[in-house]
Amino acid sequence: MSFSNPSFGAPLTRVVSFEQARHLVEQHAAGVRPGEVETLDLLAALGRVLAEGIVADRDFPPFARATRDGYAVRAADLAEVPARLEVVGEVKAGDWPEPGVCSVGRGQAVGIMTGAPLPEGADAVVMVEHTSLTDQLATQSVEVRRSVSLGENFVPRGAEARAGQVLVDRGRRLDHAGIAIAASAGKSCVQVFRKPRVAVLSTGNEVVEIGAMPGPAQIRNSNAYSLAAQVQNAGGEAVRLAIAPDERGRLRALIEEGLDCDLLLLTGGVSMGKYDLVEQVLGELKAEFYFTGAEIQPGKPIVFGSCGADTLVRADGGFTASTRTGVSAPQEKYFFGLPGNPVSTMVTFELFARPMIEALAGMTPQRLIFLRARLKSEIRTKTGLKRFLPAVLSGEFENAEVELARWQGSGDIAVLARANCYVVIPPDRERIEAGEWVSLLMR
Ligand code: AMP
Ligand code: MG
Repeated sequence: MSFSNPSFGAPLTRVVSFEQARHLVEQHAAGVRPGEVETLDLLAALGRVLAEGIVADRDFPPFARATRDGYAVRAADLAEVPARLEVVGEVKAGDWPEPGVCSVGRGQAVGIMTGAPLPEGADAVVMVEHTSLTDQLATQSVEVRRSVSLGENFVPRGAEARAGQVLVDRGRRLDHAGIAIAASAGKSCVQVFRKPRVAVLSTGNEVVEIGAMPGPAQIRNSNAYSLAAQVQNAGGEAVRLAIAPDERGRLRALIEEGLDCDLLLLTGGVSMGKYDLVEQVLGELKAEFYFTGAEIQPGKPIVFGSCGADTLVRADGGFTASTRTGVSAPQEKYFFGLPGNPVSTMVTFELFARPMIEALAGMTPQRLIFLRARLKSEIRTKTGLKRFLPAVLSGEFENAEVELARWQGSGDIAVLARANCYVVIPPDRERIEAGEWVSLLMR
């Protein structure tokens, strides 16, 4: 469901619950297409989204692999222990036990090292710790003090994955483990999606570039930097635009510039103030608004919408928006109007903008999951909104504990140096006791 205001004014308001807002974004994100594919050296692809599945080029493991140092044996020979077996050979990691040359017959054992292939005839490995080697003239024998069960201490060929099986799916973001898997499948280059370009547009007469000396009533444009960093973290490429003053003409020109990118993030100008013009100007551009607020704090004025393909066609018939896939028609462009208060900007990015960037980057959708920790000291708050309050997670090992950071509200940027997460408080809770489990949004 969406609505736009044909009278070119501010859109009708539609304030939804946090969960509805998140689901609306997820639904729209599910419909976007990622950009073109590029090929990168494996390590250069760290943090990028796979445009191809990583396929096992052979069985994993490629041979029955010993997982312990010891002796390859026949389990049946150790039904009664202690037992004495004749040692007929040795396989080190990297050796290939040629069948017939290095095999385990009844009453026999072959010394084996971790990572070495199991010789023919063996069906278990007994750990060296449970054995003693004795030399008797020409032959060596080993005394084994423990039985083993069939299949113990080795991984059968292909048990982890079969040749041809997809090890890492297309749409997964490559982390160090994905890189290791690709490396083990011999992929020195991988195909990934191009990063989506995300325009970051700060608004406000009081906002100045960080290199400028702010006047007495001015503040520096920190949001453009937090957002650019968050965009990069989410797998996008940030395009920082000039600061838009609270003036229609210039704001509109910059919004149109931002719609050239794959996604537009605005900050500021979405509240109830007389000079909060973002929604009005987007309304002039015939934007559709999916919501114009969410029942959360901080971040209540968050706006989510899109400009349809028709909006993006210029008077001269050309396209305002660049096309992402080389086809002739432009795609609709999504935007988020994030509130200007720095903590609100950061929180609403994580909750709503991130899944859209991930989708544009080609990632398989991820559900938002909150972790849990024990509350260190009581929280009292008002009901009505779902709250994401800056907090400090501490403790050690299994004993995580969390407490709210003291802050001056969502304009307090300094609190974020002390906080490392947000405590998530349901809208119906007025008081949460110390010792209760609470949900966390990690930063
Ligand atoms: P607004 O959402 O425009 O009403 O702004 C809310 C608060 O956030 C005001 O105190 C603004 O000065 C502040 N703010 C707006 N934009 C930025 C920005 N780009 N960087 C830092 N603070 C900002
Ligand atoms: Mg403003």
